[in-house]
Amino acid sequence: MLKIYNFLENHLQSIRKLIQSLFFVYFLFFSGLCLCVLGVLERFILMRNFYLTSTLVVLLITLILGRVFCGWVCPLGFIFDIIYKLRMKVSHLKFLPTVPEKIHSKMIYLKYGVLILFLYLTYKLSTYAFCKVCPLGTLTNLYGTVVSIMLLLFFLIMGFFYPLFFCRYFCPIGALLGIFSIKPLFKLKIKSEKCVNCKLCDRRCPVQIELTKGIPQHECIRCFECKSVCKKDALKYEI
Ligand code: SF4
Ligand code: SF4
Repeated sequence: MLKIYNFLENHLQSIRKLIQSLFFVYFLFFSGLCLCVLGVLERFILMRNFYLTSTLVVLLITLILGRVFCGWVCPLGFIFDIIYKLRMKVSHLKFLPTVPEKIHSKMIYLKYGVLILFLYLTYKLSTYAFCKVCPLGTLTNLYGTVVSIMLLLFFLIMGFFYPLFFCRYFCPIGALLGIFSIKPLFKLKIKSEKCVNCKLCDRRCPVQIELTKGIPQHECIRCFECKSVCKKDALKYEI
């Protein structure tokens, strides 16, 4: 058992890449089976019925593990992941670029506004309001529109300069899942007895969480980049 655990820990990022790639292919070729929990909410507002199975599974997993959907499943997250790592490679960056903390700490709330706005628009306009502008719609050909293509391009450019720009500040799905992961069962924690405060983890978190000051579980997308970079094995993901 310990051997399996060690193997998983040592190959965490490769396993994540593999799972993200598989889900990416799934979204590209089986887009009719969209897993989007926001789409399901819109459907509920419009038609008063739920595609319960996929929604409940995603929400239940979120309650237990936190926002693993964002870090391991979402195809947009996968693309934005590649984009910011490409930036790091081409610019030979050791640490991730950051948005000034004063601005960042306010902008993270924008996504909740986007969530409320699009649920309201769905109700008011009697249409799948977010699906029509969702950058993911462009990829999956579900509801790709000119607006969604332009938004995808905008967020790709911004994501090149600021890691996961869309996910941190604008994604309403991240906001919804964030509400369900305020106190998840499994939490990411720093073991103070092992931590030497080198701040390597802070500098590698793509959503700009300063782990050494505290880990807001609802902002963490469970990518475990921090865990992979910590040389002291000070980060634990546990109950
Ligand atoms: S990388 Fe590890 S040792 Fe360094 S500050 Fe983060 S948790 Fe502590
Ligand atoms: S705190 Fe760690 S696991 Fe959470 S988003 Fe940042 S790097 Fe990823």
